[in-house]
Amino acid sequence: MSDQNPVFIPGPTNIPDRLRYAMSIQTMDHRAPDFIELLEPLLCDLKKVFKTTSGKVITFPASGTGGWEAAITNSLSPGDKILAARCGMFSQRWIDLCQRHNLDVEIIECDWGEGAPADLYGERLAADKSHQIKAVLVTHNETATGVRSDVGAVRRAMDAAGHPALLFVDCVSSLASMDFRMDEWGVDLAVTGSQKGFMLATGMAIIGVSPKALDAARAAGCPRTFFDFGDMASANGKGGFPYTPPLQIMFGLRASLDMLFEEGLENVFARHTRIAEGVRKAVQAWGLELCAKRRALCSDTVSAIYVPEGFDSDVLTSHIFDAYGVSFGVGLGRMAGRAFRIGHLGSLTDVMMLSGLATVEMAMADLGYPVEIGSGTRAAQEHYRTTAQAQLRRAA
Ligand SMILES: *Cc1c(COP(=O)(O)O)cnc(C)c1O
Repeated sequence: MSDQNPVFIPGPTNIPDRLRYAMSIQTMDHRAPDFIELLEPLLCDLKKVFKTTSGKVITFPASGTGGWEAAITNSLSPGDKILAARCGMFSQRWIDLCQRHNLDVEIIECDWGEGAPADLYGERLAADKSHQIKAVLVTHNETATGVRSDVGAVRRAMDAAGHPALLFVDCVSSLASMDFRMDEWGVDLAVTGSQKGFMLATGMAIIGVSPKALDAARAAGCPRTFFDFGDMASANGKGGFPYTPPLQIMFGLRASLDMLFEEGLENVFARHTRIAEGVRKAVQAWGLELCAKRRALCSDTVSAIYVPEGFDSDVLTSHIFDAYGVSFGVGLGRMAGRAFRIGHLGSLTDVMMLSGLATVEMAMADLGYPVEIGSGTRAAQEHYRTTAQAQLRRAA
């Protein structure tokens, strides 16, 4: 089986050679001046990706889940009430993490395939006259269902209700791939990790923190040591880390930011939209359904696709792996067996995506799916062919 095949899982994503080489460095003393020279511009440039000027970026050696935990424990106290929508496996896992920290989570149940309902958030907040709700949680891109949520609309609903709660956003599978506007949307804590849009190895949680969230951290009663914002911010301020930093990933991140800025963030987003649209055209040509209920909800980084009645999506993904050596995402939680996922984020081109779509078609044909081999690939080819010129112009 070839290690040259790309993965089509929604994280960890394919690592470009340039970033693999950038991470391949010899140990260096993290108290030496060259580490200080690396750290400061890194944190500064990360702010550009979050689109924040007023906020700060804090990183920890962890995966995205560690970032969730850091966000929660640095801003809240046990018993605090928070408001969250459950619309997929990742929003569910964040809720579970909050409950294990003894937070009182008011849950808005949603259909899987819908986004975070700004109107319902607004209603719950308007009803909370005594402002018991301290934070509102939104998953920007629900990786289990391939659904994006309108974070700006949630911010407007919070403002319309005149509610002072903090706004926390999981942007693990969207940041650096889809547009994210921390300041414009009034996001107080935005959580991501190194292994999705940044195309790196897993191992760094990256958090955008607003001044309001930094203030809240001073009063937050949840215990934390490793994940303490205060310790990290004061060590970073002196050019260091409170403990050993994940040096290799930090060098990778430097190169990743360089790559993103060389392409241009808006071009990166446009590339993701274009590749995703090709996938959506293929799904339509196959006669299959996306989990996302409407076009506006469709994620540009991952598509969750229902298999026809009588077929098992887990059989499909394991057959693709066994026969062709390519990984696609399985259905998570209540979508297990019913849907598979195509991850289309990070280091990806239209040409790579066509190979993935063609592979899905081979496997579907092997398994007797009522899908015409080549139909989806052809639809995607038409889309990529007719939009290639616009892409060239944008790059120029
Ligand atoms: C991947 C992902 C996470 C979890 O991140 P880990 O790095 O696996 O801990 C959280 N939320 C979303 C939306 C994700 O896609």
